[in-house]
Amino acid sequence: MTEKVRVRFAPSPTGPLHVGGVRTALYNYLFAKHHGGDFIIRIEDTDQTRLVPGAEEYILRSLEWCGIHADYGPHIGGPDAPYRQSERKPIYKAYAEELVAKGHAYYAFDTPEQIEEMREKAKAAGNKSPQYNAITRQYMLNSLTLPAEEVQKRLESNEPYVIRMLVPRKEEIRFEDKIRGWVSVHSSQLDDKVLLKSDGMPTYHLANVVDDHLMKITHVIRGEEWLPSTPLHVLLYRGFGWEMPVFAHLPLLLSPDDSGKLSKRDGDRYGFPVFPLEWVDPITGNKSSGYKESGYLPEAFINFLAFLGWNPGTHQEVFSMQELIQHFSLERVGKSGVKFDKKKSIWYNQYYIRKKSPEELLPYVVQDLEKKGWPIPAAPYLKRVIELLSDRVEYLTDFTNLAPYFFLRPNTYEPELIEKSWKTQNIAFLIDFSRQLQGIQEWNSKNLEMLGKQLASEKGLSAGKIMPTIRLAVTGVTFGPGVFDILELLGKEETLWRIDQALQKIPVPTEKL
Ligand code: GLU
Repeated sequence: MTEKVRVRFAPSPTGPLHVGGVRTALYNYLFAKHHGGDFIIRIEDTDQTRLVPGAEEYILRSLEWCGIHADYGPHIGGPDAPYRQSERKPIYKAYAEELVAKGHAYYAFDTPEQIEEMREKAKAAGNKSPQYNAITRQYMLNSLTLPAEEVQKRLESNEPYVIRMLVPRKEEIRFEDKIRGWVSVHSSQLDDKVLLKSDGMPTYHLANVVDDHLMKITHVIRGEEWLPSTPLHVLLYRGFGWEMPVFAHLPLLLSPDDSGKLSKRDGDRYGFPVFPLEWVDPITGNKSSGYKESGYLPEAFINFLAFLGWNPGTHQEVFSMQELIQHFSLERVGKSGVKFDKKKSIWYNQYYIRKKSPEELLPYVVQDLEKKGWPIPAAPYLKRVIELLSDRVEYLTDFTNLAPYFFLRPNTYEPELIEKSWKTQNIAFLIDFSRQLQGIQEWNSKNLEMLGKQLASEKGLSAGKIMPTIRLAVTGVTFGPGVFDILELLGKEETLWRIDQALQKIPVPTEKL
């Protein structure tokens, strides 16, 4: 490749970025960086009716969190600025007119009512999905059917018009897709799409192709849903006489049950986020959690996402961003849809959490505690909590969610655990145990365990019986690391206080004889 690789991620700010969109951005980024090229962000906001406040800012923030950094974009600037299509409006009209002049597009003056009428007539004649195309355009009000002077007059008197693509009537349009191979579509399948709207705004197709050309985009890497638009884009490149970029259409992300395209509803149903960051709908105020808030590390999310459609061809599953850049190629992106796999996302997250030191994990836990409004213990205490739990957690938020007792005193006790372990004998043991704890010389888990086990055996109880009772008293729940490790960390005073509380709060069982 002699030309510098330049790719773009071109989202429309019509809502939050979905995992599929993040994957598109990621593959573009990896491809660009692999080839030492540029990664550009371009905001495609020409359809002003569909804009959602906050969506653009959300998209940019999400990519930052993922570690997908653009070389140029609306927030950075660059040689082809502006990177927001609404700010490029004056550029497009001249290009649409150039296509008219070259005979590849035409002016159309039909009112919405006239178009509707055409549709009704065609439907009545048996055409189920009538379109403005090579057949119907012959009967409509456009610069192909009207005399030239009439067209001129209408344009001069500022009559509303659109510019439409003149799609050839009978032609096989072929292009090579880097992932799918040769794609061939007959022009009779296409309609004469509007390129320039009556308000002077371009449609997606015109703006997209013009900008890809002006920004010297070498590879268009985008989702499969854009494949049906590509034949029109091919015609546009041809019409302008421009060199085409390489096209690569990425496979769809499918729901975990294979029922179709991955949707937000699948996320709700199977309990996983579909957005990178929390999204608050500006109209309804409804919140949707993101990967960040759900306790994912960005590097785990990215590694997981990279594998939804690409594979390195080896058994290696763990890749840092740098390694992904090094190994990524479009040749190893598959054609068929990829099923979303929640378990795998957790596997990656666990892996990356375990790889981090307590020191590195500390800020995440502090942030989580702040968010919850819980007391924040000193760093050494927190690091020990992390050490004790990091083998067991799936999400960063599990440090607090699964073991709140490290931060708050229990005020409820799991009924099943009470049922199982709150027996008269065990309670008697607990009372003695707490008495003996007062005199313990060195408060560490080894000594605590020795003391507990010795006392249990004196009372003819097994260690398996007494440990859940101690756990119940100090934590209130079943889940957790070794019970004596918990006691060691909580400290003497707190342990004694909690045992005392439990003895007061949990009712003594009425045992059947
Ligand atoms: N604006 C389109 C989108 O929202 C971009 C499609 C493309 O990459 O060409 O996905």
